[in-house]
Amino acid sequence: MPGRTAVVTGGGSGIGRAIAHRLAADGFATAILDLDTEAAEKVADEARERGGTALAVGGVDVSDRARVDDAFTRVRDTLGPVLVLVNNAGMSANKRFLDVTDELWDRTMQINVNGPFYCCQAAVPDMVDAGWGRIVNISSSSAQTGSPFMTHYVASKAGLIGFTKALALELGPRGITVNTIPPGLVDTPMLRRSEERGYLSGTVEHHGSRLPVRRAGRPEDIAAACAFLVSEGAGYVTGQIIGVNGGRVT
Ligand code: NAD
Repeated sequence: MPGRTAVVTGGGSGIGRAIAHRLAADGFATAILDLDTEAAEKVADEARERGGTALAVGGVDVSDRARVDDAFTRVRDTLGPVLVLVNNAGMSANKRFLDVTDELWDRTMQINVNGPFYCCQAAVPDMVDAGWGRIVNISSSSAQTGSPFMTHYVASKAGLIGFTKALALELGPRGITVNTIPPGLVDTPMLRRSEERGYLSGTVEHHGSRLPVRRAGRPEDIAAACAFLVSEGAGYVTGQIIGVNGGRVT
């Protein structure tokens, strides 16, 4: 396992940042792909300071296939074949159903569904060559429960869950597992932005205190589940929805 190369999209912030740090600490050569170059570089610097091997690939929009392909070529040339992929980059924007424009609908699908599609097509050939691979797609607990003012987002994340199941069946015989973690209420800049805009109807702390575990999630909670799913020991786990949500969804 150590020395294998992992790519984490959206690794510059929140959940992706925690996953990148965890994988680098576990010995993966970790590439942090993000739209935000400065954020990606900061996370890669931090990971290197902690003794890990990390590469920042900034300015990459996962919804742009050409940029994705270039980014994976750079990762492959620098760190070696990509055997672990965590599709974490995503966007969220609350909007009443009748106010959802074609542009918002399409943009949400492009980032949350097309992004993982492009990244998987870029990484899977390396995994097939190696006869081993791990893909983890970060979806959302809102796709399990529904959520008002998020039809576009929920549809995209439900699409990602279906994509995960189908790809798992196709790639299982190649030694590649594909799973999804649908997080719920994880304290990240994305969630705090929703709180600031009044979309949560209450604070993060208030909602956390009402969960069975009595707190909001931490990015490290998601990273811990992800670390298991990409491990050797998780080879018999594929096509699964691994909820990490403090008991919000059972
Ligand atoms: P965040 O906003 O803190 O971080 C997202 C990162 O992704 C940022 O660094 C951003 O620059 C990057 N990014 C955004 N669009 C991109 C694009 N097109 N191409 C490349 N990078 C891009 O968000 P977060 O809360 O850490 O969310 C991470 C993932 O978890 C998302 O897919 C989100 O939908 C999902 N999620 C989060 C929660 C939660 O409670 N925080 C709940 C359910 C699902």
